[in-house]
Amino acid sequence: MSEIFEPENIIVTGGCGFIGSNFVHYVVREHPGVRVTVLDKLTYAGNPGNIAGLPEDRVELVVGDICDRELLDRIVPGHDAIVHYAAESHNDNSIADPEPFLRTNVEGTYALLEAARKHGVRYHHVSTDEVYGDLALDDPARFTEETPYHPASPYSSTKASSDLLVRAWHRTFGVRATISNCSNNYGPYQHVEKFIPRQITNLIDGVRPKLYGDGLNVRDWIHTEDHSSAVWTILTRGRIGETYLIGADGERSNVDVLREVLKAFGRDEDDFDRVRDRPGHDRR
Ligand code: NAD
Repeated sequence: MSEIFEPENIIVTGGCGFIGSNFVHYVVREHPGVRVTVLDKLTYAGNPGNIAGLPEDRVELVVGDICDRELLDRIVPGHDAIVHYAAESHNDNSIADPEPFLRTNVEGTYALLEAARKHGVRYHHVSTDEVYGDLALDDPARFTEETPYHPASPYSSTKASSDLLVRAWHRTFGVRATISNCSNNYGPYQHVEKFIPRQITNLIDGVRPKLYGDGLNVRDWIHTEDHSSAVWTILTRGRIGETYLIGADGERSNVDVLREVLKAFGRDEDDFDRVRDRPGHDRR
């Protein structure tokens, strides 16, 4: 049975990052009765400018670490829900140095689940389709909630680990939790390290764009606005203990995305260099 849940005060972790800040804008615009506390460590990926200008009586920024249990005990009481976006999120960084991924993605989720349990707060866990690994390019199948986990990178394996913690905390301790696994997002406020902003900023800076490998890696692309409305729907109408997959039927290869960006800049569609692929790069 799905319950209808109408939160008034929510914590959004990672609300100064790409997708979290889009969610904060979405909530402020679409749900006028809701107050948001953003909990963000402001790592290199967090930018308070992403939520600047939002009304102060609706959005408060607490700068802190999700692993800080004492801080969580101070701020979680008085809130109805935690919507957990904070993560180390860049695959390339996870290959160069996995340690921060273990700490934030696994230990941080553990700390939040313990806080949700202790203070009786609803918890929504934002995860990625990358926990499922990859599909063959010609595979007619798609991921479902039953697809076995098969993560490829330190990033996706720590996200998979965190999903499993959420399931256990729901089953063992009765934490009112839901999980969503979403495909690749595009939209405003994304860090320049990621694929689309990197291509765009390279073009603005007069740097020739680079493409990993043959560029045939396929992703399902979804606009952050659609991701935000899906997360809100799951938070307020979702079935407790359930995992939801969010996608947009928007499959595109990296080379097609890059060619579209080049076209938008009025450039030749083949005006890019190919570089060596990263290890463990999911095909589709
Ligand atoms: P991001 O890297 O842009 O933002 C992460 C935010 O978390 C930053 O503001 C950062 O300062 C904050 N943060 C990092 N460590 C923290 C810590 N220990 N304590 C508090 N705050 C901390 O990431 P994103 O792309 O916006 O992704 C957000 C979430 O969505 C992640 O959980 C990611 O796995 C998931 N997700 C992302 C995508 C995508 O396409 N980007 C797709 C599906 C799911």
